[in-house]
Amino acid sequence: MLDVTLICNKHFHMKLTKFVFAIVFSTIMVSTATAQDYFFKDKAPFNPDIPSPEEFLGRPIGAQHTRHDLIVSYFTKLAELSNRAEIEIYGQTHEQRKLVMLRISKPEHLKNLESLKQEHLKFVNPDLSPKNYNEVPVFIQLGYNVHGNEPSSSEAALLTAYTLVASNNPEITNYLNNSIIFIDPTINPDGRDRHTQWANQFQAKSLVSDGIDAEHNEAWPRGRTNHYWFDLNRDWLLAVHPESQGKLNWYHQWYPNVVTDFHEMGTNSNHFFEPMKPIGSQDPIMPKENYEDLNNMFAPYFASALDKIGSFYYTKESFDGTYPGYGSSYPDLQGGLALLFEQASSRGHVQDTDYGKMTFAFTIRNQYTSSFATIKAAVENKAYLREYQQKFFKSAISQKAPTGFAAYQFGDAYDMNRNKAFVDYLLKHKIKVYKNGDKYTVPLKQPQRRMVQTMFETYNKYRDSVFYDASAWSVANFYNMKYRGLKSADLGTEVTTENNTVNVAKVQPGDYAYIIDFDDYNAPAALYYMQSKGLTVASAFKPFSIKTSSGNKDFNYGTLLVPVSKQKKTSQEVYKIVSEAQIKYNVPMYTTNSGYSLKGIDLGSNNFRALKKPKAAMLIGDGISSYEAGEVWHLLDTRVHMPITKIQMRSFRNANLDKYNTLVMVSGSYSQLDSIQRQKLKNWASKGNTLITIAGSSKWAIDKKLVKEQLTKKPKPKDDKAPKAVERKPYEDARENIGRERLGGAIFEVDLDLTHPLGFGYRSKTLPVYKNNNVFIAPSKSQYSTVAKYSKNPHIDGYISNHNLEIYLKPSASLIVSPLGRGRVVMFADNPNFRGAWYGTNKLFLNALFFGSRISVPTERN
Ligand SMILES: [Zn+2]
Repeated sequence: MLDVTLICNKHFHMKLTKFVFAIVFSTIMVSTATAQDYFFKDKAPFNPDIPSPEEFLGRPIGAQHTRHDLIVSYFTKLAELSNRAEIEIYGQTHEQRKLVMLRISKPEHLKNLESLKQEHLKFVNPDLSPKNYNEVPVFIQLGYNVHGNEPSSSEAALLTAYTLVASNNPEITNYLNNSIIFIDPTINPDGRDRHTQWANQFQAKSLVSDGIDAEHNEAWPRGRTNHYWFDLNRDWLLAVHPESQGKLNWYHQWYPNVVTDFHEMGTNSNHFFEPMKPIGSQDPIMPKENYEDLNNMFAPYFASALDKIGSFYYTKESFDGTYPGYGSSYPDLQGGLALLFEQASSRGHVQDTDYGKMTFAFTIRNQYTSSFATIKAAVENKAYLREYQQKFFKSAISQKAPTGFAAYQFGDAYDMNRNKAFVDYLLKHKIKVYKNGDKYTVPLKQPQRRMVQTMFETYNKYRDSVFYDASAWSVANFYNMKYRGLKSADLGTEVTTENNTVNVAKVQPGDYAYIIDFDDYNAPAALYYMQSKGLTVASAFKPFSIKTSSGNKDFNYGTLLVPVSKQKKTSQEVYKIVSEAQIKYNVPMYTTNSGYSLKGIDLGSNNFRALKKPKAAMLIGDGISSYEAGEVWHLLDTRVHMPITKIQMRSFRNANLDKYNTLVMVSGSYSQLDSIQRQKLKNWASKGNTLITIAGSSKWAIDKKLVKEQLTKKPKPKDDKAPKAVERKPYEDARENIGRERLGGAIFEVDLDLTHPLGFGYRSKTLPVYKNNNVFIAPSKSQYSTVAKYSKNPHIDGYISNHNLEIYLKPSASLIVSPLGRGRVVMFADNPNFRGAWYGTNKLFLNALFFGSRISVPTERN
C-alpha cells in the first residue's frame, strides 16, 4: 500500500533530486541517471509499491544525513508494506531510542521462521548432528554504524533493506530463497544522531569540501560513542550498556553464520575488508580456520564487487581482531564469521582528498556494495558456513583448553554483590555457572568453552607487539575475582539469572547505632543514599568486633556507622532511611544497642570519622578524554546514583569551585589551564578539598608542579658523559618499533595498603589494576601515602615491553596521595573505571570521593 502523500512527495522531489545530484555527483557519475540508479541500477526491476528511501525521505540518499527515527520509520514502513520484511525492537538506548532489527527473506521463510530457527539452532547444539547443511537458509546479520560518526553505513542499510524488499531481480530473489537477513541499521543510535545533527546543521547550500570547515569537525564529545561516551565496539565483551545487552540477548537466540560490522576511517584512505592483519595473540582461542580459510573464501567476493564499480581497497595491513569485544570478533567466538569493513569517511557531505572530492554518496555506495557482496558470498557458501559452525560448537566440547583445566572456581566471601555482578555478566554470554556452598564453578566442557577461556585465561607471550586495542581481557580480573583452575570439579547447582540473588538479613530497627559493611560493591551507593537523605555517616578507620542483632561480628576498615542519637531525625526516620538504602542496594547492615566493642575500637572512638557528602565536579570538553570522563559519569550516575557536575573547560574560569569538595580530572591535555587557572585550582584544593587525577592528569599535576611528586625516571647510565652514537634503523620499521613501547592495555598486580582510607573495603593486599597509558609515577615522598604499588612480579595479563616493565613499571606506584595545602591530590596512574567493567578497582576511585576529605598526608619528622 502506498499512501498519497508519498506519491506527491515523489513527484515533487524527483525533479529537485535530479538537479541536486547532477551538481553533487557530476565528478563521479557519468550518466544522467537518477540518484537511485547510482546505487542500484543493476538490481532492477523494483516493485513500484515499495517506496525507495529517496521517495520515503523526500530527498536522495547522500544529500543529507538521516536521523535514526527516520531510519526506524522507513524500516517500519517496509515491514508494513511487504511480506518480505518484519521488524523487531530488541532494545532501547540510554536516550530511549529504539534498537531495531529488520528480518528479510522470502515470505514463505518468514512465515516458517520459528521452525527454520529451530532447524538452524540444531547446528549450534553439540549434542545433535544434523547433515542438511544446504537445506536451511543461511542466517546473515548485517550490522551498521556502531560508531555514530561513521555515518555512511546506516544510509547503506536503508538502500540494502530497500533492495532486498523491493527488487525482483533474479539475483535478489535467489538471496531471499537461500537466506534470512537481519539488518541492524544503527547499533549506536544516540551517537549517530549526535553526529547527524552536527553534519546537517553545518551543511551549506553550496557544499564546502574544505576539510577544516565546521561541518567536517564535530564538537566534543563527538558522535563516535554512546550516551555515556563509551565505545560500543568494545562493549560486546563487557556488556555494560543496553545497546550491547540487547544485542547479546538477540545474538544468543539466533547465532548468525555471518555478521558484518561497517566502519569509516580517514578521508584519504580507500575501502578495507578482511583479511585483517594477523591476530596478535600467540595462541588465539578462535580456530585458525576462521581467520584463514573463511576470510580467504569471502575476500574475492568483495574484491570483484568493488572492482566492478572502480573502487579501491586494501586488506591485511591493519586492524587486528585480537580483542574479543569488537563487532568483528565476538561473532567469531560464536561459530560465525565476523567481517570488518572500513570506508574512507567524507565526514560531512563532500570533502577534499588527495584525489579530488569525495562525496557522502560515494562512501555509501561502497558500503552498499560490500553489503551485497557479503550476502552473495554467504549464500554461495552456506553449506560450508553451517558445517563450520557445527564443527565449532562440537569442538568446544570435544577439545580441551591448552591449560588442561576442567573448570575455574571463584567467589569472594566478603562481597556478594560483586559476585552477583560477575555471575550475571557470565550468564549474559550464556556461560554455564554452578554454585557449591559459597564457591562458584565454571566448567570448561560447555558450548561456550571459548568464552570461558576468554574470561579466565591470561597471557604473556605474543607474536605481535603492536595491538589495535587492549591486549588483556581476562574479565575475571576486571571484577577482582580471585580464581583458580581445577583439574576436576564438583559442580553443584546451576545458577540462573532468576536464582542469582543476594539475600541479606533485613536490618532491625534500633535506637543506638547501625553498622554497615563496606566490603560490599554497593556500599558506596548505600552510603550516598543515606547522606543524600540527610544522615551523618561515619567510617571506621580501624577494625573492630561488636555484638549486633545478628550475633558477634568482625568489621573491616571502612565499616560505616550511623549513630542514631547524633542525627537530626527521630530514630524511626533514621531506620526508614537505613532500611530503604538496604532494600535498594542489598548491603549487609546490622543493629547494635551498645557502643562497647568486644575487640578493637568502640563506637565512640576518634577512629570513627564522620564523612562529608561528596559534592563532585569533573572537567570535560576539548582536549579531555571523553572515554575516561564518560566512565566516571557512568559509574556515579548509574551505579552510585550520585550527581556530578560536568564543567566545560571553557566554563572553568567563571566556575565557583567552592560549591564542590571534590574535583575529578581525567586524562587530557589541560593546556587551557594557564597559571592563573592553575592557581585557582590550588587555592581551592588548599582549603581542604580533594582533587582526583587519573592517568594523564596525574602526569599533568606533576609536570605543572601542583604536587611535589615525581614521575619514574630512567636510571642514568654510569658513564653518561660519553656521546652516544645513534643507532641507524630502517625507516619502514619506525612505526612498529615505536608502537612496541606503547602500553595499549594490560593487567598488573598491585600491593594495596589496606589500612589507608583509599584501600578501605578491600580484604586482600593484592589487586589487579588496568593500565593503558605510559604514565609512571614514583612512590610518594611521604612514607604513608603510596597506597598501591606494583608488586614484585606485577604482570598478570597482556602485552608490555620488557623495557617498560623493568625500567618503568616495577619501581612505580599505582596510586598515591599528595598534600596540597590543607587539601590533597589523589593520583591514579592507572584507570580504575576502565570501560565501566572494572568492578575490582571502582572502589579505589569511590573511596577517593567518599573518604577524600578525611585523608591527611602524614609527614615524618627528621
Ligand atoms: Zn569505527
